[in-house]
Amino acid sequence: MIIRLTQLDGKLPNLALMRLASYHRHQGDEVLFTREPARTLFEPAYDRVYGSVIFNSSAHLVEQFRRHFPQAILGGTGSGNLHSVEQVIGQEWGQFDYSDYPEVKESIGFTQRGCRMHCRFCVVPEREGKARAVNTIHEIWRGPPHPRKVHLLDNDFFGQAEAAWQARIDELREGNFRVCFGQGINVRSITDEQAAALASVEYRDTKFQQRRLYTAWDNPRDEQRFFTGIDTLEKAGIPPTHVMAYMLVGFDLAESWDGILSRFNKMVDRGIKPYPMVFDAGRRDLKAFQRWAVTGLYRACAWEEYRSTQRGSVVHLSNSRWKKEVSADGKPLESTPHG
Ligand code: SF4
Repeated sequence: MIIRLTQLDGKLPNLALMRLASYHRHQGDEVLFTREPARTLFEPAYDRVYGSVIFNSSAHLVEQFRRHFPQAILGGTGSGNLHSVEQVIGQEWGQFDYSDYPEVKESIGFTQRGCRMHCRFCVVPEREGKARAVNTIHEIWRGPPHPRKVHLLDNDFFGQAEAAWQARIDELREGNFRVCFGQGINVRSITDEQAAALASVEYRDTKFQQRRLYTAWDNPRDEQRFFTGIDTLEKAGIPPTHVMAYMLVGFDLAESWDGILSRFNKMVDRGIKPYPMVFDAGRRDLKAFQRWAVTGLYRACAWEEYRSTQRGSVVHLSNSRWKKEVSADGKPLESTPHG
Protein backbone atom coordinates (compact mmCIF):
# COMPACT_ATOMS: atom_id res chain seq x y z
CA MET A 1 0.00 0.00 0.00
CA ILE A 2 1.05 3.61 -0.50
CA ILE A 3 0.34 5.80 2.50
CA ARG A 4 0.32 9.58 2.84
CA LEU A 5 0.90 11.06 6.31
CA THR A 6 0.06 14.75 6.46
CA GLN A 7 1.02 16.98 9.38
CA LEU A 8 -1.08 20.07 8.88
CA ASP A 9 0.30 22.11 11.77
CA GLY A 10 2.42 22.01 14.91
CA LYS A 11 6.17 22.35 15.21
CA LEU A 12 6.91 19.35 17.37
CA PRO A 13 7.01 15.89 15.84
CA ASN A 14 3.52 14.47 15.71
CA LEU A 15 3.38 11.35 17.88
CA ALA A 16 0.24 9.95 16.26
CA LEU A 17 1.73 10.21 12.78
CA MET A 18 4.97 8.70 14.05
CA ARG A 19 3.06 5.68 15.29
CA LEU A 20 1.21 5.36 12.02
CA ALA A 21 4.50 5.62 10.13
CA SER A 22 5.96 2.86 12.28
CA TYR A 23 2.91 0.65 11.90
CA HIS A 24 2.67 0.97 8.12
CA ARG A 25 6.39 0.58 7.52
CA HIS A 26 6.29 -2.57 9.59
CA GLN A 27 3.55 -3.81 7.25
CA GLY A 28 5.88 -3.18 4.32
CA ASP A 29 3.88 -0.19 3.11
CA GLU A 30 5.43 2.75 1.34
CA VAL A 31 4.96 5.83 3.53
CA LEU A 32 5.23 9.41 2.38
CA PHE A 33 5.30 12.11 5.06
CA THR A 34 4.47 15.70 4.16
CA ARG A 35 3.24 18.97 5.64
CA GLU A 36 1.61 19.91 2.34
CA PRO A 37 -2.22 19.92 2.57
CA ALA A 38 -2.75 19.84 -1.21
CA ARG A 39 -1.81 17.13 -3.67
CA THR A 40 1.32 18.11 -5.57
CA LEU A 41 2.03 17.39 -9.20
CA PHE A 42 3.96 14.12 -9.06
CA GLU A 43 2.32 12.45 -6.10
CA PRO A 44 1.12 8.89 -6.63
CA ALA A 45 -2.35 7.55 -6.07
CA TYR A 46 -2.61 6.61 -2.40
CA ASP A 47 -4.23 3.62 -0.80
CA ARG A 48 -4.71 5.57 2.40
CA VAL A 49 -4.26 9.20 3.42
CA TYR A 50 -3.99 10.43 6.99
CA GLY A 51 -4.01 14.00 8.24
CA SER A 52 -3.40 15.44 11.67
CA VAL A 53 -4.42 18.91 12.81
CA ILE A 54 -3.90 20.36 16.27
CA PHE A 55 -5.00 23.97 16.12
CA ASN A 56 -8.46 25.34 15.43
CA SER A 57 -6.89 28.14 13.43
CA SER A 58 -5.68 25.60 10.85
CA ALA A 59 -9.25 25.26 9.53
CA HIS A 60 -8.21 26.69 6.16
CA LEU A 61 -5.57 23.95 5.82
CA VAL A 62 -8.12 21.30 6.77
CA GLU A 63 -10.50 22.62 4.14
CA GLN A 64 -7.79 22.49 1.48
CA PHE A 65 -6.69 19.01 2.60
CA ARG A 66 -10.25 17.67 2.49
CA ARG A 67 -10.76 19.08 -0.97
CA HIS A 68 -7.72 17.23 -2.27
CA PHE A 69 -8.18 14.07 -0.22
CA PRO A 70 -11.89 13.63 0.50
CA GLN A 71 -11.38 10.05 1.74
CA ALA A 72 -8.63 10.98 4.17
CA ILE A 73 -8.68 9.95 7.80
CA LEU A 74 -8.28 13.17 9.76
CA GLY A 75 -7.45 13.25 13.47
CA GLY A 76 -6.03 15.49 16.17
CA THR A 77 -7.56 18.00 18.54
CA GLY A 78 -8.18 20.54 15.80
CA SER A 79 -10.24 18.05 13.79
CA GLY A 80 -12.93 17.29 16.36
CA ASN A 81 -12.14 13.63 15.76
CA LEU A 82 -10.47 12.15 18.80
CA HIS A 83 -10.15 8.57 17.57
CA SER A 84 -6.98 6.93 18.80
CA VAL A 85 -4.37 5.38 16.53
CA GLU A 86 -5.47 1.99 17.86
CA GLN A 87 -9.04 2.64 16.76
CA VAL A 88 -7.85 3.62 13.31
CA ILE A 89 -5.53 0.65 12.71
CA GLY A 90 -7.52 -1.85 14.76
CA GLN A 91 -4.73 -2.96 17.08
CA GLU A 92 -2.32 -1.78 19.79
CA TRP A 93 0.80 -0.13 18.44
CA GLY A 94 3.37 1.39 20.79
CA GLN A 95 6.30 2.09 18.47
CA PHE A 96 7.26 5.44 16.99
CA ASP A 97 9.14 6.16 13.79
CA TYR A 98 11.24 9.34 14.03
CA SER A 99 12.67 9.03 10.53
CA ASP A 100 10.39 11.72 9.09
CA TYR A 101 11.91 14.21 11.56
CA PRO A 102 15.66 13.77 10.98
CA GLU A 103 16.43 17.14 12.59
CA VAL A 104 14.97 16.01 15.93
CA LYS A 105 17.59 14.42 18.14
CA GLU A 106 15.77 14.24 21.46
CA SER A 107 13.16 11.66 22.39
CA ILE A 108 9.60 12.80 22.93
CA GLY A 109 6.71 11.35 24.84
CA PHE A 110 4.46 11.20 27.86
CA THR A 111 5.17 9.71 31.26
CA GLN A 112 1.58 10.48 32.19
CA ARG A 113 -1.70 11.59 30.66
CA GLY A 114 -4.57 13.61 32.09
CA CYS A 115 -4.65 16.33 34.72
CA ARG A 116 -5.89 16.78 38.29
CA MET A 117 -7.07 20.33 37.67
CA HIS A 118 -10.11 21.66 35.85
CA CYS A 119 -9.16 25.05 34.45
CA ARG A 120 -12.18 26.48 32.67
CA PHE A 121 -10.37 27.27 29.44
CA CYS A 122 -8.69 23.88 29.06
CA VAL A 123 -9.74 20.72 27.19
CA VAL A 124 -7.17 18.37 28.74
CA PRO A 125 -9.35 17.02 31.60
CA GLU A 126 -12.23 16.11 29.29
CA ARG A 127 -9.92 14.82 26.55
CA GLU A 128 -7.54 12.79 28.68
CA GLY A 129 -9.35 12.21 31.98
CA LYS A 130 -7.69 11.67 35.31
CA ALA A 131 -3.94 11.92 35.70
CA ARG A 132 -2.22 8.56 35.42
CA ALA A 133 1.20 7.09 34.60
CA VAL A 134 1.71 5.73 31.08
CA ASN A 135 5.43 5.38 30.23
CA THR A 136 8.84 5.22 31.85
CA ILE A 137 11.73 7.41 30.71
CA HIS A 138 13.45 4.40 29.25
CA GLU A 139 10.35 3.59 27.23
CA ILE A 140 10.41 7.13 25.83
CA TRP A 141 14.16 7.37 25.19
CA ARG A 142 15.20 5.96 21.83
CA GLY A 143 18.37 4.50 23.30
CA PRO A 144 21.95 4.88 22.11
CA PRO A 145 23.27 6.55 20.03
CA HIS A 146 20.50 9.09 20.61
CA PRO A 147 21.32 11.82 23.12
CA ARG A 148 20.02 11.45 26.63
CA LYS A 149 17.48 14.21 26.13
CA VAL A 150 13.80 13.69 26.70
CA HIS A 151 11.09 16.18 25.92
CA LEU A 152 8.09 15.33 28.07
CA LEU A 153 4.65 16.36 26.91
CA ASP A 154 3.04 15.63 30.29
CA ASN A 155 0.35 18.06 31.31
CA ASP A 156 0.58 17.14 34.99
CA PHE A 157 3.83 15.33 35.79
CA PHE A 158 3.16 15.28 39.53
CA GLY A 159 -0.43 14.22 38.96
CA GLN A 160 0.61 10.60 38.47
CA ALA A 161 0.97 8.44 41.57
CA GLU A 162 3.83 9.50 43.83
CA ALA A 163 5.69 6.23 43.36
CA ALA A 164 5.47 6.72 39.58
CA TRP A 165 6.83 10.28 39.45
CA GLN A 166 9.54 9.40 41.94
CA ALA A 167 10.57 6.49 39.74
CA ARG A 168 10.67 8.78 36.69
CA ILE A 169 12.82 11.31 38.59
CA ASP A 170 15.17 8.50 39.63
CA GLU A 171 15.42 7.38 36.01
CA LEU A 172 16.20 10.90 34.85
CA ARG A 173 18.82 11.46 37.52
CA GLU A 174 20.50 8.07 37.42
CA GLY A 175 20.47 8.00 33.62
CA ASN A 176 22.00 11.51 33.37
CA PHE A 177 19.15 12.67 31.19
CA ARG A 178 18.39 16.23 30.30
CA VAL A 179 14.68 16.78 30.48
CA CYS A 180 12.31 19.41 29.17
CA PHE A 181 8.99 19.62 30.99
CA GLY A 182 7.68 21.48 27.99
CA GLN A 183 4.04 21.55 29.02
CA GLY A 184 4.88 22.94 32.42
CA ILE A 185 4.67 21.82 35.99
CA ASN A 186 1.86 22.83 38.31
CA VAL A 187 3.54 25.22 40.69
CA ARG A 188 0.32 25.99 42.54
CA SER A 189 0.36 22.70 44.37
CA ILE A 190 4.04 21.84 44.40
CA THR A 191 5.40 20.28 47.58
CA ASP A 192 8.87 20.49 49.11
CA GLU A 193 9.49 16.92 48.03
CA GLN A 194 8.47 17.59 44.43
CA ALA A 195 10.57 20.76 44.26
CA ALA A 196 13.59 18.85 45.57
CA ALA A 197 12.96 16.19 42.94
CA LEU A 198 12.93 18.83 40.18
CA ALA A 199 16.07 20.44 41.56
CA SER A 200 17.83 17.08 41.38
CA VAL A 201 17.41 16.68 37.60
CA GLU A 202 18.86 18.49 34.59
CA TYR A 203 15.77 20.43 33.52
CA ARG A 204 16.18 22.38 30.31
CA ASP A 205 14.31 24.61 27.88
CA THR A 206 12.80 23.28 24.66
CA LYS A 207 16.16 23.61 22.90
CA PHE A 208 17.96 21.79 25.71
CA GLN A 209 20.28 24.74 26.20
CA GLN A 210 19.21 26.82 29.18
CA ARG A 211 18.08 25.76 32.62
CA ARG A 212 14.33 26.28 32.39
CA LEU A 213 11.20 25.17 34.15
CA TYR A 214 7.88 26.09 32.63
CA THR A 215 4.79 26.86 34.61
CA ALA A 216 1.90 29.33 34.51
CA TRP A 217 0.06 31.95 36.45
CA ASP A 218 -3.18 32.15 34.54
CA ASN A 219 -5.73 33.13 37.15
CA PRO A 220 -5.03 36.43 38.95
CA ARG A 221 -6.69 34.97 42.04
CA ASP A 222 -3.93 32.34 42.28
CA GLU A 223 -1.31 34.92 43.23
CA GLN A 224 -0.63 33.59 46.69
CA ARG A 225 -0.50 29.94 45.60
CA PHE A 226 1.69 30.82 42.65
CA PHE A 227 4.29 32.67 44.70
CA THR A 228 4.19 30.09 47.46
CA GLY A 229 5.10 27.58 44.75
CA ILE A 230 7.92 29.83 43.52
CA ASP A 231 9.16 30.09 47.13
CA THR A 232 9.06 26.32 47.40
CA LEU A 233 11.13 25.95 44.22
CA GLU A 234 13.61 28.53 45.42
CA LYS A 235 14.01 26.82 48.80
CA ALA A 236 14.85 23.63 46.90
CA GLY A 237 17.53 25.43 44.89
CA ILE A 238 15.61 26.43 41.75
CA PRO A 239 15.96 30.19 41.32
CA PRO A 240 13.03 32.17 39.86
CA THR A 241 15.33 33.13 36.98
CA HIS A 242 15.03 29.53 35.78
CA VAL A 243 11.25 29.84 35.62
CA MET A 244 9.24 30.85 32.60
CA ALA A 245 5.62 31.49 33.60
CA TYR A 246 2.86 31.63 31.05
CA MET A 247 0.17 34.14 31.85
CA LEU A 248 -3.20 33.80 30.20
CA VAL A 249 -4.57 37.21 29.26
CA GLY A 250 -7.97 38.09 27.89
CA PHE A 251 -9.85 35.13 29.38
CA ASP A 252 -11.01 36.95 32.49
CA LEU A 253 -12.79 39.91 30.96
CA ALA A 254 -12.99 41.54 34.36
CA GLU A 255 -9.21 41.82 34.56
CA SER A 256 -8.19 45.41 33.84
CA TRP A 257 -4.98 46.55 32.20
CA ASP A 258 -3.78 47.56 35.65
CA GLY A 259 -4.37 43.98 36.76
CA ILE A 260 -2.56 42.48 33.77
CA LEU A 261 0.43 44.78 34.20
CA SER A 262 0.51 44.16 37.92
CA ARG A 263 0.60 40.38 37.34
CA PHE A 264 3.35 40.85 34.77
CA ASN A 265 5.42 43.20 36.93
CA LYS A 266 5.17 41.02 40.03
CA MET A 267 6.75 38.19 38.08
CA VAL A 268 9.44 40.39 36.55
CA ASP A 269 10.26 41.83 39.99
CA ARG A 270 10.80 38.31 41.24
CA GLY A 271 13.12 37.42 38.37
CA ILE A 272 10.59 35.19 36.57
CA LYS A 273 10.24 35.36 32.80
CA PRO A 274 6.55 36.02 32.04
CA TYR A 275 5.14 34.88 28.72
CA PRO A 276 1.67 36.25 27.97
CA MET A 277 -0.68 33.90 26.12
CA VAL A 278 -3.58 35.69 24.48
CA PHE A 279 -6.95 34.03 24.82
CA ASP A 280 -8.86 36.02 22.24
CA ALA A 281 -7.14 36.09 18.83
CA GLY A 282 -8.98 39.29 17.98
CA ARG A 283 -7.41 41.29 20.81
CA ARG A 284 -4.70 43.21 18.99
CA ASP A 285 -3.87 45.14 22.14
CA LEU A 286 -3.09 41.91 23.96
CA LYS A 287 -1.08 40.59 21.01
CA ALA A 288 0.97 43.78 21.14
CA PHE A 289 1.42 43.24 24.88
CA GLN A 290 2.61 39.72 24.17
CA ARG A 291 5.21 41.00 21.69
CA TRP A 292 6.37 43.70 24.08
CA ALA A 293 6.84 41.06 26.77
CA VAL A 294 8.40 38.12 24.92
CA THR A 295 10.84 40.21 22.91
CA GLY A 296 12.13 41.78 26.12
CA LEU A 297 11.12 45.27 24.98
CA TYR A 298 9.58 45.84 28.38
CA ARG A 299 13.12 46.36 29.66
CA ALA A 300 13.60 49.28 27.28
CA CYS A 301 10.28 51.06 27.16
CA ALA A 302 7.07 51.30 29.16
CA TRP A 303 4.00 49.44 27.94
CA GLU A 304 1.96 52.57 27.31
CA GLU A 305 4.78 53.99 25.22
CA TYR A 306 5.07 50.79 23.17
CA ARG A 307 1.31 50.50 22.83
CA SER A 308 1.04 53.95 21.35
CA THR A 309 3.34 52.89 18.52
CA GLN A 310 1.37 49.77 17.57
CA ARG A 311 -0.86 49.37 14.59
CA GLY A 312 -1.29 46.92 11.71
CA SER A 313 -1.84 43.22 11.52
CA VAL A 314 -0.80 40.44 13.86
CA VAL A 315 -0.30 36.73 13.34
CA HIS A 316 -2.88 34.48 14.96
CA LEU A 317 -2.36 30.89 15.90
CA SER A 318 -4.46 28.84 18.20
CA ASN A 319 -3.72 26.67 21.15
CA SER A 320 -5.10 23.17 21.12
CA ARG A 321 -5.56 23.04 24.85
CA TRP A 322 -7.91 25.96 25.01
CA LYS A 323 -11.57 25.48 24.46
CA LYS A 324 -11.94 28.62 22.44
CA GLU A 325 -9.78 30.04 19.69
CA VAL A 326 -6.54 31.16 21.25
CA SER A 327 -3.66 33.05 19.81
CA ALA A 328 0.01 32.45 20.37
CA ASP A 329 3.05 33.81 18.69
CA GLY A 330 4.67 30.84 17.05
CA LYS A 331 7.33 30.36 19.73
CA PRO A 332 8.76 26.88 20.25
CA LEU A 333 6.12 25.68 22.66
CA GLU A 334 3.08 24.22 21.07
CA SER A 335 0.65 24.77 23.87
CA THR A 336 0.48 26.66 27.09
CA PRO A 337 2.38 25.26 29.97
CA HIS A 338 0.23 25.68 32.92
CA GLY A 339 0.12 25.78 36.61
S1 SF4 B 1 -4.45 24.28 32.01
FE1 SF4 B 1 -2.96 22.79 32.77
S2 SF4 B 1 -3.46 22.60 34.97
FE2 SF4 B 1 -5.27 23.50 33.97
S3 SF4 B 1 -6.58 21.74 33.43
FE3 SF4 B 1 -5.31 22.21 31.65
S4 SF4 B 1 -3.59 20.84 31.80
FE4 SF4 B 1 -4.54 20.93 33.82
